[in-house]
Amino acid sequence: MTDLTDLGIAAIRDGVREGAFSAREVAEAFVARVAAAKSLNAFLVETPDHAFAAADAADKARAAGETLKPLAGVPIGMKDLFCTKGVASTAASHILEGFVPPYESRVSQNLWDAGAGMLGKLNMDQFAMGSSNETSAFGNVISPWRRSDGGASGKNWAPLTPGGSSGGSSAAIAARLCPAATGTDTGGSIRQPAAFTGIAGIKPTYGRCSRWGVVAFASSLDQAGPMARDVRDCAIMLEAMAGFDPRDATSLDLDVPKWEAGLSGDLKGKKIGIPKEYRVENMPAEIEALWQQGIAWAKDAGAEIVEVSLPHTRYALPAYYIIAPAEASSNLARYDGVRYGLRDLPDGANLQEMYAATRAAGFGDEVKRRIMIGTYVLSAGYYDAYFTQASKVRTLIARDFEAAWESCDVLLTPTAPSAAFALGEKSADPIAMYLNDVFTVPSSLAGLPAMSVPGGLDAAGLPLGLQIIGKPLDEQSVLNAGLAIEQRAGFTARPEQWW
Ligand code: GLN
Repeated sequence: MTDLTDLGIAAIRDGVREGAFSAREVAEAFVARVAAAKSLNAFLVETPDHAFAAADAADKARAAGETLKPLAGVPIGMKDLFCTKGVASTAASHILEGFVPPYESRVSQNLWDAGAGMLGKLNMDQFAMGSSNETSAFGNVISPWRRSDGGASGKNWAPLTPGGSSGGSSAAIAARLCPAATGTDTGGSIRQPAAFTGIAGIKPTYGRCSRWGVVAFASSLDQAGPMARDVRDCAIMLEAMAGFDPRDATSLDLDVPKWEAGLSGDLKGKKIGIPKEYRVENMPAEIEALWQQGIAWAKDAGAEIVEVSLPHTRYALPAYYIIAPAEASSNLARYDGVRYGLRDLPDGANLQEMYAATRAAGFGDEVKRRIMIGTYVLSAGYYDAYFTQASKVRTLIARDFEAAWESCDVLLTPTAPSAAFALGEKSADPIAMYLNDVFTVPSSLAGLPAMSVPGGLDAAGLPLGLQIIGKPLDEQSVLNAGLAIEQRAGFTARPEQWW
């Protein structure tokens, strides 16, 4: 029999329906694999009982001849940014240590309602701030991938980042610890880790997935989405995650399309835009070559290729790194030692001192850096010079995309300017780290759906991803272009097991 942990969502769903195996067997296989992969540090909490309960419910429903739910028998991983009732939820920060939510996030509830079970809570960058997983308060995740060439430093097997912030999710899927996982994306946190680990992930249009019960980072950008082995699995999982929620004021009151049923890798009649400003300085030749390959695959699928211009692209990163910290500094004001998690109350301290001690002890360095930047750009003397200006730039970036849609249906770009880098390689230099988000941030600022699909391997044997960006609410075209590329890329590489 095939190893059940090699199966993705669709194969598990169909196999359970047909009785090829039981949901319990699937859950047991993944639970055992999670337990044997502690060295990757992908899970912060393991919840086998949750997975078993959902599996048993699926098996019971099948035995009773009931119609099975869309994700019946599918165990998944949950990024620790989602509040899960009765299960510790820390956003990988000390300041939330000990916090056990008395409620369930809307997206996780939607997944349980669809029949999925939870294998555990996945490690991530603290408060989703980071691109490498190194800002987690509980130690970084280690990518299951390794270079095949000893690396630039000549040091063999230097541990690599699985990307960030959803690095626990990407590592767990690539290592076959779960068939799929939730991610969140504020400036690239679903797409970049997906690219670094050879999996697929989609950030839907802002407002498709409820933010209710998701620990807030930058509320005008935060959006949940699925990470999985392939495009079809992303479509299935996004259908379960998305939907209107009156408890989130920015939730879109729209029906959820049947994305899986609408999948087609035929791009005849579609125009694919290639934004010339994404040809950035010092881009490795391998990334450029992959992009050209992606263009050739899109043509082969019947698409017409058009060059487009997004002239404000180069202002996207600076605008993002003003807007996101500004919103974060406001959102993170709630962690004061009174209401959640950690409280540091030195002897004889007054309230003000308790706030300061708690926040000093509870937040990591990157989170503090962003709170300081955010507070600065929102301060009375600098608000107009920074925050207002960045907000104007954001509008110009959104208009660039609107103009591009006059001549194309989706855009095709690389997902990240490099393959996975070694842990420690960029952590001393925040700007180098931020530059990693150059291709993912513009679509986040414009609230557009965007996905990453694996395109191939670089010379060191590491995965590279291609990004597809779509019009607002047009996830279907994004998924279809992703499928066309996936079908032609034939990406089957997987990390050799060493853990
Ligand atoms: N790497 C980006 C940042 O650090 C994006 C993070 C995210 O999308 N959550 O802000």
